[in-house]
Amino acid sequence: MHVTQLIALQIVKDVHLRQALLRAQKFESLAVGGLVQFFHLLAHASPEMDAATKAAINTSLKNLLFFTHQNLLIVVQILLNRMVAGKSNYWATNLATIVNAKMAKKVKTKGEAVQVLKVHMQNSENIIRNIIKTQQAHGGKKRIFALMNDWLNAITTVTNEKIRETLYNIEQFRADALNLTSEKPPATGPAAKGISSTTKTSGTSNLVGAGNSLTGKNPFAILKASAIASTSTAKFPNNFTNLPKVTPPFLPALEGEARQSTYTLVLDLDETLIHNVEYGSDSYFLVRPGCVYFIELMAKFYEIVIFTAALQDYADQVIDQIDVNKNIKYRLYRQHTSQNGPFLVKDLSLLGRDITKTIIIDNISDNFILQPENGIFISTWYDDMADTFLEEISPLLIEVAEKKVPDVRRALRAYRDQILRQISNGAKEPSIRFH
Ligand SMILES: [Mg+2]
Repeated sequence: MHVTQLIALQIVKDVHLRQALLRAQKFESLAVGGLVQFFHLLAHASPEMDAATKAAINTSLKNLLFFTHQNLLIVVQILLNRMVAGKSNYWATNLATIVNAKMAKKVKTKGEAVQVLKVHMQNSENIIRNIIKTQQAHGGKKRIFALMNDWLNAITTVTNEKIRETLYNIEQFRADALNLTSEKPPATGPAAKGISSTTKTSGTSNLVGAGNSLTGKNPFAILKASAIASTSTAKFPNNFTNLPKVTPPFLPALEGEARQSTYTLVLDLDETLIHNVEYGSDSYFLVRPGCVYFIELMAKFYEIVIFTAALQDYADQVIDQIDVNKNIKYRLYRQHTSQNGPFLVKDLSLLGRDITKTIIIDNISDNFILQPENGIFISTWYDDMADTFLEEISPLLIEVAEKKVPDVRRALRAYRDQILRQISNGAKEPSIRFH
């Protein structure tokens, strides 16, 4: 959040872009405030709110974070554009590739950036207003929602410091809303850089930033620190206590020859294969182009597993419809995910499958952060009916299985190297065809 402000004030000269960025930053604050508060409501099973309403708010918050994230990507892109062009810089090229892949709407000019920022903010505002309305309609009197309402009405004049300060001081807005107090950041390893190795009982007091100590009163700092601290370990089962109990290994053991010959393809569901849309009280989903064929085709080469962080009822409904020929062998749901700081991750080591023969495709690379070498990052899909990713990735996947590569991680590394080579050779849109 500070970064957006700094960039707006110190790097961006264009007055319209600067204003849009400063405003976007306030929406970031509101989005994070709303999110943490929602976790708090869930954690304490707010009696005034039913499950459907909570699910609706959950979806809203997902969308809210999406727009916030997209705005942040614009900020990163602005930074990248300001970097001195010339010698090819591996780091900047990589970052540009990631930003490009994750950006839902590409922006090329300052004017476009302002436009897209404005659209995202309008959407964010609508979502926040809806959340407030839903909460109040259910008799909720949480102070934060009233405040968020006030802020929305005065967002052009209220300062970001004011938003932050108030959020810190709200009684409910505490670190334990995210159940972080039981988490101890790892004391060693590069991920724990800048975090002291002292382990105290409070999750808020043992986090020390590099150079400046983070007080226990600053929830943003806690979020940030725990995100940094939680890249190499995850806790199973996750923190959701009302889910069905499951025990690893999640998949039944392979017998005999199948143990040697089976390759496992783990697929994410939302924004990888489908996109769920809520329209008023109706909910439906769009299917990524080529999805049904992709599953049919891959089933000839792989044992297919859907691994979603979504709830089982929702996921089953969707999977039943996209997999009429029953090509998907197994389904894993939110109860199978592990807790990694404030995030849920998909730990492939709990599947009971050979890690050298397992590939995961997901639109959130953090989901496979525990086994990054087994992951293929797929661009998030919402409704682009011209998308060809599934078609394009198929030859690579078929080749891996047909050639019976001894270790998929090496094959995927070669694939990534190939893309990077193309980029460094000047390819604007690198082909992911595997030759
Ligand atoms: Mg997804």
